[in-house]
Amino acid sequence: MSENNVLLRVQNLKKYFPIVGGLLGRQIGAVKAVDGISFDIKRGETLGMVGESGCGKSTAGRAILQLHQPTSGKVFFEDKDLTQMSGEDIRQLRPKMQMIFQDPYATLNPRHSVGKIIGEPLVIHGIMKKGSSELKDRVVELLELVGMDPVYMRRFPHEFSGGQRQRIGIARSLSLDPSFIVCDEPISALDVSIQAQVVNLMQDLQEQLDVAYLFIAHDLSMVKHISHRIVVMYLGKVMELTERNTLFENPLHPYTQSLNSAVPIPDPKSEQKRRRFILKGDPPSPANPPSGCVFHTRCPLTEEKCITVEPEFREIHPGHFVACHLADEKGSSMIPEQTILASVMS
Ligand code: SF4
Repeated sequence: MSENNVLLRVQNLKKYFPIVGGLLGRQIGAVKAVDGISFDIKRGETLGMVGESGCGKSTAGRAILQLHQPTSGKVFFEDKDLTQMSGEDIRQLRPKMQMIFQDPYATLNPRHSVGKIIGEPLVIHGIMKKGSSELKDRVVELLELVGMDPVYMRRFPHEFSGGQRQRIGIARSLSLDPSFIVCDEPISALDVSIQAQVVNLMQDLQEQLDVAYLFIAHDLSMVKHISHRIVVMYLGKVMELTERNTLFENPLHPYTQSLNSAVPIPDPKSEQKRRRFILKGDPPSPANPPSGCVFHTRCPLTEEKCITVEPEFREIHPGHFVACHLADEKGSSMIPEQTILASVMS
């Protein structure tokens, strides 16, 4: 991974979906799916993005790629602001920014052969001609790249397992030689035994191709091995962002601490002693988010200030950003263990 080599910069990105109601069909509110997120992704880096279902992760991924038009904010890709570009200019850049989906079966045309599915983006973008030997060679190369036998190019999606279909989806996303891929829960629908294989494949591909990933998942265990840094989202906002190891060893936000406490420890002795910090209740609706800190309705440390004042997303240590009034600037974990234990079901 290249250091200090920013590929993508997201600045205060928002995506609100209008709520329409009443007899006149007027806008009566908005679902604040993504509400002012900011971060960078470097070339060849994997930024893991985690949070509960409905926290805005997938919408963020789509808004970054301009598949959803952002409500406000900026997205710079290779220093060009995507939010100010015309549709045609975005189309020109599209080969460099791709997406991998959670359910590859839903996105692979069942009537098309694997060869056609993988080669199609090259034909659509006018890079290679349909039926050309050049196109066939590229499909063979891509199948080999994702660890599949090229003889499979004549088969159809239903003839493959979930893991193989995800490999086909990855091969298609790589066909245009992208430098950035949004991976939207790419392993969530796979058996646990297959998840590690797909993660290993994606890491190998990253090393070979220097591609950057935004790797979206709903729990920390899924992003633990592949991420260089991790961003934690809650109700459309970023709660914490830091290096992978720092996030696991010294999480500073109470929400990150609760997610971290759910990650199984491979050592059986340590696993026995693991304490779960389980949050009460469900996340509030993004159509009516709480005042102040959006996490205050579930946080065990809520103070008066948390209810009225939104915490600033600030850099507590170099590269370690947290949105919490009580984050400890001395660097120790913010919540004393007794406090956590007082609010856990172990
Ligand atoms: Fe909890 Fe307050 Fe920090 Fe929000 S700002 S996470 S409510 S302590």
